[in-house]
Amino acid sequence: MDLRIKEIVRFSSELGFSGCGIVPVAHLAEEEEHLRTWLDQGFNGEMHYLSRDPRKRCNPALLMEGAPTLIMVTQNYYTPVRQTDTSASILSRYAYGKDYHEVVKSKLHVLLNFIRELLPGIKGRVFADSAPLLEKAWATRAGLGWIGKNTLLISPEAGSFFFLGGILLDKEIPVISPEIPEDRCRTCTLCLDACPTGALVAPRILDARRCISYQTIEHKKGPDDTLKGRFRNRVFGCDICQEVCPWNRKALTHREKAFLPAAELEQFTAEEWESMDQTLFSRLFSGTPVMRAGYQKIRKNLDFLKSYQPDNE
Ligand code: SF4
Ligand code: SF4
Repeated sequence: MDLRIKEIVRFSSELGFSGCGIVPVAHLAEEEEHLRTWLDQGFNGEMHYLSRDPRKRCNPALLMEGAPTLIMVTQNYYTPVRQTDTSASILSRYAYGKDYHEVVKSKLHVLLNFIRELLPGIKGRVFADSAPLLEKAWATRAGLGWIGKNTLLISPEAGSFFFLGGILLDKEIPVISPEIPEDRCRTCTLCLDACPTGALVAPRILDARRCISYQTIEHKKGPDDTLKGRFRNRVFGCDICQEVCPWNRKALTHREKAFLPAAELEQFTAEEWESMDQTLFSRLFSGTPVMRAGYQKIRKNLDFLKSYQPDNE
């Protein structure tokens, strides 16, 4: 392996990234076909941005003109910490700490500066869920895992509780494409069976409109009545199809301080959720991914959960 590649991978680990792979850029023709079929079925719901220019989405060289090289990284966010009040509305684990977009991107900028020292004159574009690019497909190509039947990237060493990010580079680095990890889901269907809303309509096919994550974050109007009683008290995001995945028994606790939950949030009670006003919401969730949904959306989610508690049905 080129010594510079070894150095990039070593430094990414020093920055706390759990995985790093480097691949030559290509057009993902098969993935483009899948994406178009998925969009044709309307599975993206109101996420209209996903249907903009699928060709560009599947070819990073169109995103940054002629970019020949892509670096993909994974950032672990797994924590065994749970909210202490078991009757309180549940947040997805990824929302406990600071907004991952900022945390991952700032570390990637440090990595890019390091690469510039190794390869003077090189330019790069950093992204973390912030560019129209098929991150999971590229992470697979970079050898970081396979795409599970729950549609998430699964690392054979550490499961699926990862954020993804990367850097597009404007110069070629002589990389040998890593081997694409084999699909180890095999006959398992635990995630499909466990999804409470039937959002996983087939292995690796998500109808986002039925997914609790979409309904509690992206769907601005508030959750659909057709899904009443199925949210298992999730107020922001959903980890059910990850929690049941056997590969997550290997999940390691992250060591990223920015993702540690505030003690107040960890101990937030069902009553406090219920009485939370805009001021408390802003104090509690400032700088976290929950702010992206906003107070009004969270209020609608809470009202939805409350109106369909078994006692009220
Ligand atoms: S996140 Fe929840 S609702 Fe969405 S597919 Fe997974 S289990 Fe189903
Ligand atoms: S639960 Fe089973 S089928 Fe689903 S992603 Fe994990 S290993 Fe694959």
